Amino acid sequence: MGKAKRQALQQRRQASVENLTARYKRRMGERLAASRKLFKKRVVAVDPHTHSIYSDGQSTVAENAERAKLVGVDLIFASDHGTIRQKRSAAPLSNATWGEESDSAGFHLGLLRPTKPHRSRPAETLTDGLARARKLTDFVWLAHPVGFSGLTPKYRGLILKAVAPLDEVAMEVLNGFAVIDRAHYRTGLWGVWMMDRLLCAGKKVTPLGSSDCHWMVEIGNAWTGVLGATRSPASVIKTLRAGRCFASEAPLLDLSINGKPMGSTLKPKKGAALTLRFRAADSAGLAWVRVISGGKILKEIYAKGQPVVSGTLSRKATGKPAHYRVECAGTDDRRAFSAPVYVR
Ligand SMILES: [Zn+2]
Ligand SMILES: [Zn+2]
Repeated sequence: MGKAKRQALQQRRQASVENLTARYKRRMGERLAASRKLFKKRVVAVDPHTHSIYSDGQSTVAENAERAKLVGVDLIFASDHGTIRQKRSAAPLSNATWGEESDSAGFHLGLLRPTKPHRSRPAETLTDGLARARKLTDFVWLAHPVGFSGLTPKYRGLILKAVAPLDEVAMEVLNGFAVIDRAHYRTGLWGVWMMDRLLCAGKKVTPLGSSDCHWMVEIGNAWTGVLGATRSPASVIKTLRAGRCFASEAPLLDLSINGKPMGSTLKPKKGAALTLRFRAADSAGLAWVRVISGGKILKEIYAKGQPVVSGTLSRKATGKPAHYRVECAGTDDRRAFSAPVYVR
């Protein structure tokens, strides 16, 4: 086969993958739209982490933004590696804005709307890298902190050591890079493991979901549900800072304790009553919903395909620090993980 013919064939193949995934993702968008009606609380679906042709992505910011509309994601951040030049391509779009992905101490950092690109310095610690990043942005997180390949016990130990000095951190627990239909299994598996390890060590952790797309087909694999924000980037960033969010592949989630939303810190007297209220919705049906504290399941509900599950759980404040979070799965196992409510 000649070179021109081979190129034409390759282009047709690429177009057919784009069309096939568009059809699938459109159904995901319809599922999310129906879930929102059942959930009855405003959720802004955000993809904080997308790549475009401004770095190593294969789609334009506009193409990514079009895909986002299809899957029901309200706002994307074009967070290219080491640059914010994509800002000018996002500016005319109503559902896109800029971010940046940089690296520091072996980790990748995500920054939302930084004033300039954050650049790594050799031999800096993660704490120093984060401190410098925070001067450039109101919101920074660890992108795919557990990586995509084999996570050996030694590497797990190195990660935990690097994050040990931090009191609070936002991190991706779901990342959709290099997968067509959902989050990379390793980010879901080990990302949630790492979140629980950090929570049990007394830290505050804000979980995020992102597509980390390098081609528009990955958009919608995972995203972050932001509760109570408007679609404006400033409102989304403010609400993420408050920790009012959940990482998701499809279902919607909410949790409060004594009326205080996710991300809140309660300071009850010892013995005081804590009333947890949780709610999950997925128009495709839920398989289960769990309430988790200290890495243990406190309550598990088998939803048997019901589209909405709400419940309450009563606890007593023990006088010791605690955290509570909820997670759920749709009937096709797509998951969601809430940010915790903290008791101190
Ligand atoms: Zn990365
Ligand atoms: Zn990335």
